Amino acid sequence: MDHDARRNRPDRAALLDHLPAAPAAGDQARSGSAIRRVPVLLPYPFAGPFDYAVPRDMDPRPGDIVLVPLNRREEVGVVWDEPAGDAVPAHKLKPIVGIIDSAPMPAPLRRFVDWVAAYTLSPPGDVLAMALRVLSTQDTRVLLYRRAEVPSTTGRITPPRRRVLDALAKREPMAAADLGVAAGVSAGVLRGMADAGLLVAEHGAAEPPFQRPDPDRHGAELSPQQQEAAAALRQAVAQRTFSVTLLDGVTGSGKTEVYLEAVAECLRAGRQALVMLPEIALSSQWIERFQRRFGVAPAVWHSDLGSRIRKITRKAVAEGKAPVIVGARSALFLPFPDLGLVVVDEEHEAAFKQQDGVIYNARDMAVVRARLSSCPAVLVSATPSLETVANVEAGRYAHLRLANRHGGASLPKVELVDLRETPPERGKFLAPPLVAAVHATLERGEQAMLFLNRRGYAPLTLCRACGHRMQCPNCSAWLVEHRTRHQLLCHHCGHTIPIPSECPNCHVKDSLTPVGPGIERITEEAAEAFPEARRLIMASDTITGPHAAADAAHAIEDRAVDLIIGTQLVAKGWHFPHLTCVGVVDADLGLAGGELRASERTVQLLHQVAGRAGRAEAPGQVMLQTFIPEHPVMQALLHGDLDAFMASEADSRRDGEWPPYGRLAGLIVSADTAADADGLARELGRAAPYGEGVTILGPAPAPMSLLRGRHRRRLLLKVRRDVAVQPILRQWLSTVPVPRGCRVDVDVDPISFL
Ligand code: ADP
Ligand code: ZN
Repeated sequence: MDHDARRNRPDRAALLDHLPAAPAAGDQARSGSAIRRVPVLLPYPFAGPFDYAVPRDMDPRPGDIVLVPLNRREEVGVVWDEPAGDAVPAHKLKPIVGIIDSAPMPAPLRRFVDWVAAYTLSPPGDVLAMALRVLSTQDTRVLLYRRAEVPSTTGRITPPRRRVLDALAKREPMAAADLGVAAGVSAGVLRGMADAGLLVAEHGAAEPPFQRPDPDRHGAELSPQQQEAAAALRQAVAQRTFSVTLLDGVTGSGKTEVYLEAVAECLRAGRQALVMLPEIALSSQWIERFQRRFGVAPAVWHSDLGSRIRKITRKAVAEGKAPVIVGARSALFLPFPDLGLVVVDEEHEAAFKQQDGVIYNARDMAVVRARLSSCPAVLVSATPSLETVANVEAGRYAHLRLANRHGGASLPKVELVDLRETPPERGKFLAPPLVAAVHATLERGEQAMLFLNRRGYAPLTLCRACGHRMQCPNCSAWLVEHRTRHQLLCHHCGHTIPIPSECPNCHVKDSLTPVGPGIERITEEAAEAFPEARRLIMASDTITGPHAAADAAHAIEDRAVDLIIGTQLVAKGWHFPHLTCVGVVDADLGLAGGELRASERTVQLLHQVAGRAGRAEAPGQVMLQTFIPEHPVMQALLHGDLDAFMASEADSRRDGEWPPYGRLAGLIVSADTAADADGLARELGRAAPYGEGVTILGPAPAPMSLLRGRHRRRLLLKVRRDVAVQPILRQWLSTVPVPRGCRVDVDVDPISFL
């Protein structure tokens, strides 16, 4: 395939120019016989499907994956459903080249693609592209090895060869690549063994890594409360109809054990289950738990997977051979033929929102996916989002609640460390009460964690001589010092420079000084304060993938680590039985920007972090360092009264008709120059809709008014809950032409306003 051509997507006008008459279709038209035409949706940002002629010997059905000519190339598309139009005269239609031998895209997924496109105001082809991204038209067969039935007597059995034979004794046949890894040998060793008659090589489908999970293996002995919740979920699965249930329960109450019972029921019914996790690539503990419950690992789906395993997985899903998929957002677009359950764990997580390309919230789209597949959705969280709580209150979602931690573990005791009263020493960030608590924890032989949601050494580098701040040239952001890498780094665009030895503005030597802490700086301070403690940093720069996450988790479980220092990565669902003390270095951090959801999100994040402490017998202790102990967020965390906090948060949103009691859509204007961005933003402002219950905020420079070299402006549409934003947006956008070099991105239900 021509990759450059693919990147430069053709626009529609150019495309129509390039549609020469197809000879076959032309002949048919002239001979008078009616030609059959079908709509084919292509993974490009066109307004809709294109019509193609059907050659006589072909019978494409909706959902079939087909190869069609497009702009002098052949492209993969999907036969769509609506009746083909007659806008293009028959003699101009090009014929379908062929139907690809691949499971067709099931109707619920086609409806889902249409639905997401309509809801997010995206071209349907862009949404389809997410579903076709890994479609393979190639052979997925691979080189497999098995042991020779009659082993040759000439081949010598060296230790590496013995390892190969041992690996095959456990699983046979095995893909060459997997066998090499399992036995720790090179491809050459395997070839040598085949030549010596010890192994037999064959080409075949890689055996599916997806064995059937056994729903009837012995699960956890559920408490009466857990049993009740599990029974309700099992019933929802058995009903085979759409429903949504919020499974809400304090951290460590056994929500996972409970929803795995719903997965088991789905397996018994012979249907497929999808479990969505916000950081699946780092969820090694979850996978191990699944394995304990069901005997085998689930199929995993996320963007870091290699393309071979993605192809195999997609095929297995399409053929119903992957009964359970645990995945990230994009798993919603897998072609399940018989989806029976969708679970969204940590449903409150902002990570479910995809911010570029098609901007969508996977939590909300999971509910839509379930509806279109007539199956239940289960949303799971210890700190449900206000949206979900409002849906429970309105009676749209059922509600199951687990009130207690499993096994009598108590919730951790929360203390506020008032930084005004007990400040850290000069130049330090850990206040004496927190230092003392960590010392005491370590002395008891238990584990402690320090949490700061900021990567790097310092968020700001400042010149002591002239006050110059080191800023990214491409973004409205400061450069963050990463001391271990000797770099200043922009967290938005990745721009890096070596740490300068003098101020670039006043050229005074050694005048640049770090301001504020990042996690590297806390680690440095911790090394001084707790020199004996074995430390582990958990941040996206150190925990880079599934293996690193699993290694870190095992090191903590095995008590090879005393002190964990982490960013928001540590908030996610981990279960560390020996961790009893959690210190939050800057509890005020998330409240700074004053965004709509700042309070809600801070409570959720800090409650999740706190929830890592004291999950087993030993009681947990949480210390929040804050300058504003009287703030409702701090008080809610102190008293563990999230319900009251959420109720008052709901009241204030209700008063202003903010979500979930009103609807928002953001327009993000971006352009290469500030003048272009301003011009287009002004035009949109002038054409803005008006009417009862409709408010426009902006245009205004975005808080990130420069991002990756693009100038950005924002407008916000706010409407009453009973008003649909899509028709308004469609009408609005249709009146304002977007000049070359400019873009308007639509963010329906925005959660970020940067
Ligand atoms: P949550 O998802 O609510 O945070 P988990 O499902 O992770 O809670 O449960 C916390 C810990 O308690 C896990 O190690 C889990 O295996 C254990 N656990 C929960 N319920 C049971 C049970 N009924 N029997 C045995 N262990 C349980
Ligand atoms: Zn930048």
